[in-house]
Amino acid sequence: AKRCGRATYRIFDSLRRAAELNTLLLADRIPDALAAGEIQLYYQPQFTIGDRRLIGMEALLRWMPPGGAPIAPDQLVLAAEQTGFIAELGEWVIHEACRQISQWRNQGLETVPVAINVSGVQFLRGELTQIITKHLEHFRLPGRSLEIEITETIALDNTEGILRELHELRQAGLGVAIDDFGTGFSSLSYLRYFPINRIKIDRTFVNGCLEFRENAAICKTIVSLAHNLGCQVIAEGVETDEQLDFLLQQGCEEVQGYLLAKPLPAEAASEWLKEHCH
Ligand code: C2E
Ligand code: CA
Ligand code: CA
Ligand code: CA
Repeated sequence: AKRCGRATYRIFDSLRRAAELNTLLLADRIPDALAAGEIQLYYQPQFTIGDRRLIGMEALLRWMPPGGAPIAPDQLVLAAEQTGFIAELGEWVIHEACRQISQWRNQGLETVPVAINVSGVQFLRGELTQIITKHLEHFRLPGRSLEIEITETIALDNTEGILRELHELRQAGLGVAIDDFGTGFSSLSYLRYFPINRIKIDRTFVNGCLEFRENAAICKTIVSLAHNLGCQVIAEGVETDEQLDFLLQQGCEEVQGYLLAKPLPAEAASEWLKEHCH
């Protein structure tokens, strides 16, 4: 048994090292890919459940190497985090989202806040608010044009610095949402002092909320927790009418998911806005 364990360990160890190597090789290609325009933002609409009103768009990274298979955004972000390139990539996301919002405004398309995902690493230099404000000002956009999505793992490190940054962002008019709520390992205590205005129910809970009692209970609990804290609550990954009905019954007021709209490339998102917003 001991030998078997050692062999298994060796296999896992070399698998892990292969994965690390793969991440490094990937990370190496990111700067050129970004410069070559292989990396883009897609936009996924968010709605109220009751009257299907558009309330926002989430910006999601897409990397399509020419002739190759698309690279998953979480893999891209992980690779960028490990080499420190996440600062540049993250700033590119901020710039690109602002540029797109500005274009929509100029075209007279209704503009709702665009939510961008921010990695915890982007908070470490303590300059996130300055960077975001710089790009908003460059495009003459109000702070409410953006919402930032953070995960709860952020509450684990450098809490004071992050707290200050979040307050500055809220003061500048930006929304702050907690993404993938309930999937991290942090305690709930940060909810008392983090200036959050929206909680996102992770799609692993939404998925199977009708098949599994536990998922239903978790969704229900997150909705009432959010409301008791005075936060809005949005469910992500909604794929069926039954899930939508269930969430509506629980008092959840906002949704995002393939059932209503998939993430769209900028061009398609513009067309979509033209058709849906009048
Ligand atoms: P996330 O922030 O939780 O994003 C939601 C993910 O769920 C997206 O996957 C979206 O395409 C997917 N999704 C939306 N509706 C449905 C649905 O109805 N069913 C299913 N099965 N999936 C749905 P995506 O685009 O692959 O992004 C994966 C993750 O990559 C994101 O998870 C986020 O953690 C990360 N990510 C994406 N863009 C960025 C970025 O600009 N910066 C950072 N730091 N992370 C990003
Ligand atoms: Ca997100
Ligand atoms: Ca999420
Ligand atoms: Ca996620």
